[in-house]
Amino acid sequence: MPRSWLTEIFLLLGALLSALLLSALYWALGLVPIALFVAWHGYNLQRLCQVLADSDADVPQGIGLWGDALELIYRNRRQMDRRLQKLKRRVRRFEESSAALPEGAVALNGSGEIEWLNGAAAELLGLEMSRDIGQRITNVVRSTAFISYFEAAERPRGVEFGSPDDDRRVLYCQMVTYRKNRSILVIRDVSETRRLAEMRRDFIANASHELRTPLTVIKGFLENMDMARGQFPETWHRPLESMRQQADRMLTIITDMLSLARLESRGDAVRAAPVDVVALLRESVESAQGLGGDRYDVELTADEAWLLGDEQTLRSIVTNLVQNAVVHNPSGVSIQVAWRRRPDGSADLKVRDNGQGIAPEHLDRLTERFYRVDAGRSRAAGGTGLGLAIVKHALSRYGSHLEVESEIGHGSTFSCRFPAEHVIEPLRRSA
Ligand code: ADP
Repeated sequence: MPRSWLTEIFLLLGALLSALLLSALYWALGLVPIALFVAWHGYNLQRLCQVLADSDADVPQGIGLWGDALELIYRNRRQMDRRLQKLKRRVRRFEESSAALPEGAVALNGSGEIEWLNGAAAELLGLEMSRDIGQRITNVVRSTAFISYFEAAERPRGVEFGSPDDDRRVLYCQMVTYRKNRSILVIRDVSETRRLAEMRRDFIANASHELRTPLTVIKGFLENMDMARGQFPETWHRPLESMRQQADRMLTIITDMLSLARLESRGDAVRAAPVDVVALLRESVESAQGLGGDRYDVELTADEAWLLGDEQTLRSIVTNLVQNAVVHNPSGVSIQVAWRRRPDGSADLKVRDNGQGIAPEHLDRLTERFYRVDAGRSRAAGGTGLGLAIVKHALSRYGSHLEVESEIGHGSTFSCRFPAEHVIEPLRRSA
């Protein structure tokens, strides 16, 4: 039996025995030890209540079962203190490490109010911890791009917006949702990356531009020489022809690189003019038929819908897709070009062929610059490897993207959807 129980029994027996002895002297005296025993318990109960009510109060010592109870409370408290200290150390370490992060982090509750933020977030977003904790994020970050990203039902991966404090700074924010509706915003300064990308784009655009003029001159001379080939010795004919072809190729690559650089540059926004898509498609189908020497069956089905956009970018989308269906497929293939209006006001463009198809491992990479499934064949067909990259960038200006479905031996379908805000009624009937 535990010692505390023995003490308890000993005390009880002591009280009863002394009550018995004292009652032999005078009956009422027998009540005194019992009363003292009960009072002692009452006193201990009151001490216990005090200790439980005030977690900072010292835990007194006691004897018997009261001693055990107080000892247990003392031990539990020490254990909890140790846990609390450990937890505090962890929280401190977490706060220190997140404060040292170069990326900004903001924790939001379910109502979009700031619960916590690190130093980088405060600096990037121009916030102050003491002032802005508890504020709704959209009240303190007023960028329209950020607000529409934050409030969108289906969010893209991230959003870029100008820093509220310094408009030369570009921020990229990604929102991660956890535990139903709590979320964390991760904010990065991408100004340097953007600046480098812009420098690269400018370099390509300038280099292409600078190369185009001398190349046009060389091409002109080569064409003249080719026309007057009779004046040159026979051995010169093939090199001349080859030089003219290569100059043509280089000029096409440079023109494509310039188009791509122009499409990528953010400053060059879509010029919104009404464009007769059906006329563009007809032109493109005719030139594809010309390119294929009538060895391809190209069929066009089109609804009378126009687009509000830039004719040049739309022409490059249509031409690249239709010409690809011809040049990357053997003769005899049938090609269907469809321009269809949808009930929600948007419109779909589909270019489908029943040609050789593309293996699945290539599909994700087709829109990369200079990516070709068969480089040799593409070059021989006059391809630059930039066509689909141009299409991808041109489509992104309309908030659209290219989808490719293909199966080896069964052909390919290249499709894209133009959102309703770009689709308009025809201004006149296409001829
Ligand atoms: P290219 O100048 O070579 O046409 P693109 O960027 O337009 O470059 O196309 C990339 C590659 O995708 C092509 O080299 C070709 O291998 C493949 N491709 C594109 N369209 C088709 C198609 N309709 N059928 C089969 N392959 C295609």
